Amino acid sequence: MFLLQKESLIFSEKSKIALINARIYTINSHFDVYSNGAVVFEESGILSVGPMETAQIPPETNIIDCCGRKAILPGLIDTHSHSSLLKGFSENAQLLEWLPEYQREHQILTDEDAYFSCLLSYLEAVKGGTTLVTDMYRKLNQAAKAAIELGIRVELVPYAADHNEKQFFETLETTRGLIEDWHGAAGGKVNTWVGLEHITYCSKEMYKEASAIADEYGVNIHTHTSEQKEEVQLVLDSFGKRPVNQLEQYGILRPGTVLAHCVWLDKGEIAILAKTGTGVAHCPISNMKLASGTAPLEDFFEAGVQVGLGSDGGISNNSLSGFELMKTTSLLQKVSQLDATAIPAEKALRLATIDGARLLGRQNEIGSLEPNKASDLIAIDLWQPHLMPIISSEGHDPVLWNLVFAARASDVTDVWIQGKQIVQDRGLLSLNEQSLLDDIHRQTADLLRRRQRVKPIPIV
Ligand SMILES: [Zn+2]
Repeated sequence: MFLLQKESLIFSEKSKIALINARIYTINSHFDVYSNGAVVFEESGILSVGPMETAQIPPETNIIDCCGRKAILPGLIDTHSHSSLLKGFSENAQLLEWLPEYQREHQILTDEDAYFSCLLSYLEAVKGGTTLVTDMYRKLNQAAKAAIELGIRVELVPYAADHNEKQFFETLETTRGLIEDWHGAAGGKVNTWVGLEHITYCSKEMYKEASAIADEYGVNIHTHTSEQKEEVQLVLDSFGKRPVNQLEQYGILRPGTVLAHCVWLDKGEIAILAKTGTGVAHCPISNMKLASGTAPLEDFFEAGVQVGLGSDGGISNNSLSGFELMKTTSLLQKVSQLDATAIPAEKALRLATIDGARLLGRQNEIGSLEPNKASDLIAIDLWQPHLMPIISSEGHDPVLWNLVFAARASDVTDVWIQGKQIVQDRGLLSLNEQSLLDDIHRQTADLLRRRQRVKPIPIV
């Protein structure tokens, strides 16, 4: 059934790795940058990071000289995504027309579809420097398997709902099984959340049980809300309350709950997020592409609401690039506020790394390059026309800005996750990429054949 030709991971005989003569962006609380630095790490974590002149490289270390031509960052974190094989098939529509078309693939999704969807999405993500994907999807046993085979971190969020016209969603029963099977698996690289698709698809009883399951297992909760103006009106018409007020009444707003989108919140709803410690997965490209609107990021920051960045998956974004997310986040706030200082490069980099980690409750483990944190690092080739100059002058670092506004996913040359190298010189080490693409192509053709037989089910 699964025909991947696995290649064995290439491990150095020496367990410690030192990247030297590198431009290192630690994204620590001081935002320390070492224009000529070294980072030493192993599978158990980062051992040291600092300037070259004080670097202490233990004996028996595999030394990789970056020759002043590479930037090193912590792995990028995608706080809201959906795997899919069908990027480019749900187009030219706003959310409420887009959803039924997108859901056609879910009406017929098989285990094999899910497995190859996840492999495709995680492959694109990891080659572009994203080391953790929060995947709201279905048949997540397959997602866990795909993530472990590829070596990426994944937060599994079941697309669960109990509306009787949307039978294809996951249930809280399958959620419970997923938590028991996968939460904390693969050395903590795989975790499971309670996922609720949307307020219009889930009953009051479901929220109550979801909340109880999250308490019982100590896991986080994730759902979509307030993505489009018409959706807020739909909720107001159905419940007589704005979405965040209704979610508060349902009892799921708390630290560890993440709401995707939050484009159309009023001041009172933002205050509720701040009061309850609820965070936001901001998805700027999807919000622009589905013509949803601009989320009020500055209001979130002012109120103390945690924010991370989300791609929202290939189906509403067409790209899983964390670099595009950083750039778009900044540009969208600049143009909507007519303020060129909105979301400077430093903040964009924080949002894509440590802020994302904090949103997911993983800030003590990932999101910055500091001793004892996990060895999740990415290397970016700066020796390219679109990333020059790489010389700081008068206290100004152009690379910081060009990493956000000029760098591309394809500039990522190497990726380590928990100290294991997953990408080397832009090539995947953990699986045979060409054979994997063959299998994905074949599975997509099969899915499209089956999809022709299903019609969109209108939005409820
Ligand atoms: Zn989404």
